[in-house]
Amino acid sequence: MKVIVVGAGWAGCAASLSARKQGAEVLLIERTDMLLGTGLVGGIMRNNGRFTATEEMIAMGGGEIFQLIDQNCLHRGIEFPGHPHASLYNVATMEPVVKRFLLEKGAQIRLSTRIDEVEMKESRIQAVTGKRGEEKVRFAGDAFIDTTGTAGPPGQCTKYGNGCAMCILRCPSFGGRVSIAAKAGVQETAGRKGNQIGAMSGSCKLFKESLSREIVNTLDTKGVMVIPIPASLQSEVQLSIKACQQYALPEFHENFVLLDTGHAKLMTPFFPLEVLRKIPGLENARYEDPYAGGLGNSIRYVGMAPRDDALKVIGVDNLFCAGEKAGLLVGHTEAIVTGTLAGFNSVRYIKKEKPLILPTTLSVGDAISYVRAQMETEEGLGHKYTFSGSVYFDRMKQKGLYSIDPKEIEKRVETAGVAGIFLQ
Ligand SMILES: Cc1cc2nc3c(=O)[nH]c(=O)nc-3n(C[C@H](O)[C@H](O)[C@H](O)COP(=O)(O)OP(=O)(O)OC[C@H]3O[C@@H](n4cnc5c(N)ncnc54)[C@H](O)[C@@H]3O)c2cc1C
Repeated sequence: MKVIVVGAGWAGCAASLSARKQGAEVLLIERTDMLLGTGLVGGIMRNNGRFTATEEMIAMGGGEIFQLIDQNCLHRGIEFPGHPHASLYNVATMEPVVKRFLLEKGAQIRLSTRIDEVEMKESRIQAVTGKRGEEKVRFAGDAFIDTTGTAGPPGQCTKYGNGCAMCILRCPSFGGRVSIAAKAGVQETAGRKGNQIGAMSGSCKLFKESLSREIVNTLDTKGVMVIPIPASLQSEVQLSIKACQQYALPEFHENFVLLDTGHAKLMTPFFPLEVLRKIPGLENARYEDPYAGGLGNSIRYVGMAPRDDALKVIGVDNLFCAGEKAGLLVGHTEAIVTGTLAGFNSVRYIKKEKPLILPTTLSVGDAISYVRAQMETEEGLGHKYTFSGSVYFDRMKQKGLYSIDPKEIEKRVETAGVAGIFLQ
């Protein structure tokens, strides 16, 4: 049983672990020189309904990656506007921890390897092909998982955003994203709201060293600092274009919200540097990600694959997907839960077993099914979905799915008949 996972963001890492736990030989392929993709610059976990989803996964036996992240957090149980009980992992140190963990579990990893073509036989993928430097590579497998995300290449950021802002995905250096589903002939969808196709990433990173001592001390001790933006400068804040609508609240328009994720995470998609430097304490501020954070940010959510609730891509027999590729799902938590299910079902497919569809009495199952249905409507394509806020968190609360009591969540998982399912 050989599972090939293309794209090593959080979704690809989780899919690899999950397929490996089911006994498959797993190869995880990544075009850059590091794992985690956009997870190299994020860091916020467990805020609002992400707490519930995380505990559900732990109760289902799919919690190892969450536990690994919990161990690498700089701050736990912090609150920032609209977001209680958040954890912040250290983006500077997380990647090698995950890499070592996956290797220990027996997954094989190929970095700096960009897949750019697929070999098909009827409606099955036989192999993926690409390049590692100048060397041509070919990997055959029984099942494939597309976790290539939806961000980049630079042409997309130019067409739908403000151009390449030199983000962590480093497309000009490693070559841009290539979608496996699209290469297999699948018609992909784009998120759209009014005239905007896709959405802009919603936060930047500032070098902590470039901030005042007072700000750094507050971030180190509390994890969060809220700095009011003078009314005359608030027109520079762009929230409507943000991918993460859970942070498009008035508080984020009137204040700079800074979070300590190793660097100082600034919760706005971009902000002109000269204007930023007018704020006391930020006079010497410098962007760490994206490097041109004064001008723009990456554009995402162009290129999502149609899929069912087992996360199988419609139209290709042996292709699964997860993370942003599986829909307008924003976040690391969302990528890890879908990755875990896709990895699990890829092995069930090879074994000719019935795929697992998670019950909608759990937030994870409900979100996977709800987002799939929403993606089929024009209105639904205008939203982004996350356990941590906006439309999906509202739904969680309405359906009584939101809980921050691990015992209650564990019981709910047991009642749904899926306790420990990812360990079987
Ligand atoms: C600036 C920023 C800040 C964020 N902050 C947070 C946060 O604090 N908390 C949170 O929960 N979420 C955050 N998010 C959102 C979150 O990072 C993503 O929604 C989630 O991690 C997506 O994971 P993914 O695995 O689906 O995709 P990605 O992270 O995009 O990973 C896809 C991977 O596939 C690789 N790839 C693409 N094509 C190929 C190919 N052809 N061959 C080989 N490899 C390929 C890419 O290089 C990349 O590593 C943030 C996003 C951004 C951009």
